[in-house]
Amino acid sequence: MSTPPASIDAARDAVLAAAAPLTAEPVAVGRALDRVLAQELVAAANVPRFVNSAMDGFAVRAGASSGPLRIIGEARAGAPAVLAGPLGPGEAVRVSTGAPLPDGADAVVRLEDAREADGAVTLAVDVAPGRDVRRPGEDLRAGETVLRAGTRLGPAELAVAIAAGAGELRCARRPRVALVGTGDELRPPGAELGPGEIHESNLTVLRALATRAGAEAVLERSVPDDPAATRAALAEALDAADVVVASGGVSVGPHDHVKDALAALGVEQRLWRVDLQPGKPTWFGARGAQLAFGLPGNPVSSFVTFTLFVRPALLALQGAPPLPERAAATLTEAVPRRGREQALRVRLSYGADGLRATPTGPQGSQVTRSLLGADGLAFVPAGAGSLAAGERVAVEPLNRDLR
Ligand code: AMP
Ligand code: MG
Repeated sequence: MSTPPASIDAARDAVLAAAAPLTAEPVAVGRALDRVLAQELVAAANVPRFVNSAMDGFAVRAGASSGPLRIIGEARAGAPAVLAGPLGPGEAVRVSTGAPLPDGADAVVRLEDAREADGAVTLAVDVAPGRDVRRPGEDLRAGETVLRAGTRLGPAELAVAIAAGAGELRCARRPRVALVGTGDELRPPGAELGPGEIHESNLTVLRALATRAGAEAVLERSVPDDPAATRAALAEALDAADVVVASGGVSVGPHDHVKDALAALGVEQRLWRVDLQPGKPTWFGARGAQLAFGLPGNPVSSFVTFTLFVRPALLALQGAPPLPERAAATLTEAVPRRGREQALRVRLSYGADGLRATPTGPQGSQVTRSLLGADGLAFVPAGAGSLAAGERVAVEPLNRDLR
């Protein structure tokens, strides 16, 4: 309790030191969106596998005569031409895009460069060898590594994986996350509110953030500020999950029971308090391979601390690069400095001077509006006075990588 608050970096180090990758499992490629690849993916064969036409038109021999070429057959995608022998100089085969090129042909004349009449075709252009022909291995070469372990599978990666021949991919198991919200004042979303009550939002938001980070939310409990209820819910959470995230009740008030409950359940403290605004009362501990976080209850604090500390843990458990790329951005307006490092919610944009960061309005830890439109966090070092417009700050993207 008496140790000073950790820096953001030190807090992340403590979290990542405890987050060992989970086991891998086979996943059908059609179900692998957003999963993290746990294998190196090597192209099984050349892509394309066979010489084929890049256009609709006629397969010919390059430099064929300028006179009419007799059309001796057709090759379509999936249906090679059936010919008596290789295509000769005075001959052409009608082809569709993707059709295997007939033996003897080495170029394709596009439909718009050909005139067809009486079973023959006249070319309006000279045809160079290889024109509009796709060669084997032009896209992917057999044996080539096309995706590395730790890659998040988005639509582009799935396209390449399937082209490379994969039907199933070894992916990291999705971390199981259990969420526990604490507070006597909390009522479910949409419920009528009595005096002093508020709508519980963190469970929904943390579930959304966890899902975005590739995790599976397996349990959600909302409990009053009661030691026994808190402990029972956290025990259930630890039975169900790889990662337990509690919200609220983690501070030092008489009604904060999360830390004691986790300690009683055998979770060993690894981090308590971060030199951060919002999010100072952040707690982290481990029980064997299980991780447990106590996040401050203010909705913005819980969002920011999840993003800074829990998300990296979830990514590390999946074997993905845990931390977002940091970049330097220019502040578009002055911001006051405070006694702690601030993680401002900012909108990122590109100007003539590069990346810019614009705070999203008032930054109090209860101002959920500050999350709207924010696509980055800007880090303002602790100190006196303010940072002027035009000063540079470090930024991290919220939901994507800055590439
Ligand atoms: P705590 O961290 O428990 O001291 O809570 C700090 C502030 O966040 C209080 O104003 C709580 O009412 C609010 N709060 C705590 N948990 C939640 C929650 N799950 N959803 C919305 N607000 C919350
Ligand atoms: Mg509370």
